[in-house]
Amino acid sequence: MKRANQEILKSKYPKLFPTSLSAEGKFTTGFQCQDGWFTLLDNLFGSIYRYCSSDNKEYPYLVYLKSKFGYLAIHFENSDEVIFGMKHMASHMSTRTCEFCGTMRNVGQTQMPWIYTCCELCYEGNQQGKDLTWAPND
Ligand SMILES: [Zn+2]
Repeated sequence: MKRANQEILKSKYPKLFPTSLSAEGKFTTGFQCQDGWFTLLDNLFGSIYRYCSSDNKEYPYLVYLKSKFGYLAIHFENSDEVIFGMKHMASHMSTRTCEFCGTMRNVGQTQMPWIYTCCELCYEGNQQGKDLTWAPND
């Protein structure tokens, strides 16, 4: 993800990125996904913020966030079952959202050895996809 987009998310949701914990090895891997999932992450983090602030709960903090086998793999410490549900929903949505441009139209996945979720246009325009095959979602 572009540095500028990372900074937007960090400045909107600073409690999910505690710097003291980063120093201890939390979220040192950073954002390991493309910009197409920016809106998905913005909505997920916004939902977590609303949930925590309205209930006066402690905020969870990010440990990792990556594109893995075509879906958003994300892990929070200090989480609960509600946040787990939000995270699960975001991961599911990521398999329907182009990781490169964010569209939900004509989205599918590349096949082994490198599985990622993208639309047909991004697949065709993406150098990384040249040796991979792509199939639309059901
Ligand atoms: Zn796309």
